[in-house]
Amino acid sequence: MRAIVVGGGIAGPAAGMALHAVGFEATVLESRPSGAGSGSWFTVAPNGVAALAELDALEAVRGIGVATRRNIMVGATGAPLGSVGLGAPLPDGTPALSFRRPELAAALATEAARRGVDVRHDARVAAVETTGSVAAVTLESGRRLEADIVVGADGIHSVVRSAIDPHAPAARYLGLANFGGITRGTRLTAELPPESWTFVFGRRAFYGALPTPAGDVVWFVNEPRPAITRTERTAMTDAAWQRHLVGLAAPDSGPFADLIAAGELELAGDSTFDLPRVPTWSRGRLALIGDAIHAPSPSSGQGASMALEDAVVLAACLAASDGSPADAFAAFEDQRRARVEKIVAQGARSSSSKTAGPIARIFQDRMLRFVFRHFVTDESQAWIHDYRARLGGARRIP
Ligand SMILES: Cc1cc2nc3c(=O)[nH]c(=O)nc-3n(C[C@H](O)[C@H](O)[C@H](O)COP(=O)(O)OP(=O)(O)OC[C@H]3O[C@@H](n4cnc5c(N)ncnc54)[C@H](O)[C@@H]3O)c2cc1C
Repeated sequence: MRAIVVGGGIAGPAAGMALHAVGFEATVLESRPSGAGSGSWFTVAPNGVAALAELDALEAVRGIGVATRRNIMVGATGAPLGSVGLGAPLPDGTPALSFRRPELAAALATEAARRGVDVRHDARVAAVETTGSVAAVTLESGRRLEADIVVGADGIHSVVRSAIDPHAPAARYLGLANFGGITRGTRLTAELPPESWTFVFGRRAFYGALPTPAGDVVWFVNEPRPAITRTERTAMTDAAWQRHLVGLAAPDSGPFADLIAAGELELAGDSTFDLPRVPTWSRGRLALIGDAIHAPSPSSGQGASMALEDAVVLAACLAASDGSPADAFAAFEDQRRARVEKIVAQGARSSSSKTAGPIARIFQDRMLRFVFRHFVTDESQAWIHDYRARLGGARRIP
């Protein structure tokens, strides 16, 4: 059986490895050139790390991950608001790991290729079809490739999703522009708790920072605002954005304005979207995984983890089916839809707490303390972090 996976982000190479492990000849098509890719850091929670381990891919990426155990929330005055663990570590002690997004994507693609998955870059898919016993993609170059199934792991603006359902809902803007960066070799690491994100509900923005064992600090800023226009993007330089970010953090206590001022911007003005419900996940020999069907707000901290889970579960469903992709895709949806939609809904709620207006902000600290004491706790999040995606018995040794 042959599978084409569209997209070489997080879900794509993972799906390539998972499908290869259950006996597919897999090709991953990524539109970007090899080694290219923007983005700053995100955290893969234990449920996502466990999916990597299930694919025997954890060792291939462990070295570029930073151990991350808790999210610590503080207010604009520096007052503590609460703290939530990122889930119990795996049995071997591996906790949640934070990665630079493009580095994780590249490491997964390299590992997939090492195992014999055909990973192609500079390969943008322009059209997708499913007819009888064949699924096919046409690249922008005009080249056509056929397979038994096509898996769309092509992210929030998926072309495979449009091929499955031309009326599928588009992603929705969450009212936050996202920026990310790193400050290297800074003494400010000493002001931040190790192996933890410190999240600040600031006066003008929500932002956070994670110290690394190398003595760097990784940071991000979410600014509540309308989506950045093309004109504005063209007019702003990285240096201008960085001055703007320093201004957002300046009224609040803590080392954040200094950190941002001393750092390098890695991601400027990424509009944050989510995709709460995609009614149709598959058609014929086409199926979707990852952000293409359930992009959560970045606030959920689960986008990459869910994408990795999907890759494992889809391959397990295909391995368990009697050769009918439609049955396997239905089983996949059955196992996945309720979980991922619940996580996306939860992410949208935490995202809205970052866009509080000036009046709401007066009560925000009190309200957040209550939320982190009673509702968003280690126990209440366990159903997310304790989930384990299993490949099943059909796996081949990689
Ligand atoms: C700022 C930010 C912070 C985040 N923080 C977290 C976090 O803390 N934890 C977490 O788990 N998740 C986080 N996420 C979400 C996470 O990045 C995504 O959920 C995750 O990358 C989804 O993986 P994916 O492979 O489905 O999609 P993507 O990573 O978007 O990959 C899709 C790939 O498909 C390629 N592609 C698109 N169209 C085509 C085409 N036509 N042909 C070929 N290739 C194509 C793209 O180039 C891309 O490489 C965050 C996201 C953002 C924006």
